[in-house]
Amino acid sequence: MRTIAHWIGGREVTEPGRTGPVANPATGAVTAEVTLADAELVDRAVRVAAAAADAWAGSSLSQRTRVLFAFRELVVAHLDELAGAVADEHGKVLSDARGEVQRGLEVVEYACGVPTLLQGRYSDQVSSDVDLFSYRQPLGVVAGITPFNFPAMVPLWMFPLAIATGNAFVLKPSERDPSASLVLARLWQEADLPDGVFNVVQGDAEAVEALLDHPQVAAISFVGSTAIARHIHQRATAAGKRVQALGGAKNHAVVLPDADPAFAASHLVASAFGSAGERCMAVSVAVVVGGGVDEVLTAVDEQARAVRVGPARDPASEMGPVITRAAKDRIVGLIGSGEAQGAQVRLDGRDLVVPGYEEGFFLGPTVLDRVTTAMDVYRQEIFGPVLSVVRVDDVDEAIALINANPYGNGTALFTGSGEAARRFHRGVRVGMIGINVPIPVPLAYYSFGGWKDSLFGDRHIYGPEGVDFYTRAKAVTVRWPEQRASTEASLAFPTAR
Ligand code: NAD
Repeated sequence: MRTIAHWIGGREVTEPGRTGPVANPATGAVTAEVTLADAELVDRAVRVAAAAADAWAGSSLSQRTRVLFAFRELVVAHLDELAGAVADEHGKVLSDARGEVQRGLEVVEYACGVPTLLQGRYSDQVSSDVDLFSYRQPLGVVAGITPFNFPAMVPLWMFPLAIATGNAFVLKPSERDPSASLVLARLWQEADLPDGVFNVVQGDAEAVEALLDHPQVAAISFVGSTAIARHIHQRATAAGKRVQALGGAKNHAVVLPDADPAFAASHLVASAFGSAGERCMAVSVAVVVGGGVDEVLTAVDEQARAVRVGPARDPASEMGPVITRAAKDRIVGLIGSGEAQGAQVRLDGRDLVVPGYEEGFFLGPTVLDRVTTAMDVYRQEIFGPVLSVVRVDDVDEAIALINANPYGNGTALFTGSGEAARRFHRGVRVGMIGINVPIPVPLAYYSFGGWKDSLFGDRHIYGPEGVDFYTRAKAVTVRWPEQRASTEASLAFPTAR
């Protein structure tokens, strides 16, 4: 059985101790065991990072840029290897896994511009013979804790900018699909990043708690479910750390009567069932406005029924399995509860079997109509291939529905009306909004983040807010007095003269 190691100080490390199973969700078979760090091992990794952090913070911007450009080239060259590692342990189809690496790569490309991103400000002659300038410095050791659903992209949301801005990084990937993290670690080394600047500790809650409590960890970036995000934020801020903790989601896509029904239907299907609904920006609820919705819903049924479900490496597959048997059982239970509470099952994926993969964690696309906000299937994040349909009378009712939901990650509107679109994007309390764009993940030179229970902390991830998150500002006020200038100093509070 293959053992998946930690990566500390530029080499793989395994220790006797607890391990966890890593499975291929398409077959259900355990393919590897991952070592699970205890507090002592986390402490060792953080110390190694701390020992490397000062020299890296003092490295020139030119050196850092060269390493980042080299890393960028290596990720491109190893894109298929990374996508394969993602597909085999997560279960998403290869084309989707490649897309995830590509979106992560965009953050590396943004970080390649670090000399510009870190440019400070300078004000000449703010007082007589006095100049004032500000610049930003790294925090030291920062840690990232990431979810199973994007084992390459979400870590890449974090460490390219953390490292580019001069920090050392400790990554705690999901224990469900940890292999991609080691490919990335090896590529950093090949890119000439000094050993110790990037480290991986494999583990579960025990490793996370050790990172949250460690006095030498200055900041935590977390992405995962809301309950854990809230806990991470509370515990790590109590320990004096800077925290950004991105949580779960319940994304609504609103279809207005003036939307193109074929366009709306195909985008609803793609965004609800891509990656088996295991995306934090997946559309989970279709909010259809007005009476004439049959054309849209009939097209959704037809296209959802046609989605080819199968193993990740089969080029014919469009949608893979969900991550674990437990996840499958939970989703099946939620569909059943929706049915019992009065939802109409338009399309039922519960009994889908993929020939040759009977032990895989497969579910087919499922469409539930006439869902209400009181139902469990509406109230809980499903994180599976289930599209709930809620019917409302007008756009204001749709906005009120979205605003009453505790999550606020992403939302979309399908319409031909600029007036409705403007009312919608100004009115919803949600961080990322798409107008005729169902998965509005901002490009790397913007920042990604939800509102309400979808993000705890005040900084979104990557982009300009990522640069701010991983650095802190210094303002320097400078006077070089001429020898013959007055040496008089006053005890009054200094004001500009
Ligand atoms: P999760 O919260 O179970 O796990 C996330 C990380 O936290 C993992 O590294 C895990 O090992 C660790 N963890 C789990 N339980 C813990 C505990 N009790 N104490 C401390 N650490 C713990 O999430 P997941 O199932 O891996 O990922 C799916 C969730 O992530 C969904 O809710 C999804 O919406 C969310 N997500 C959000 C975003 C976003 O941008 N907002 C992006 C991706 C995923």
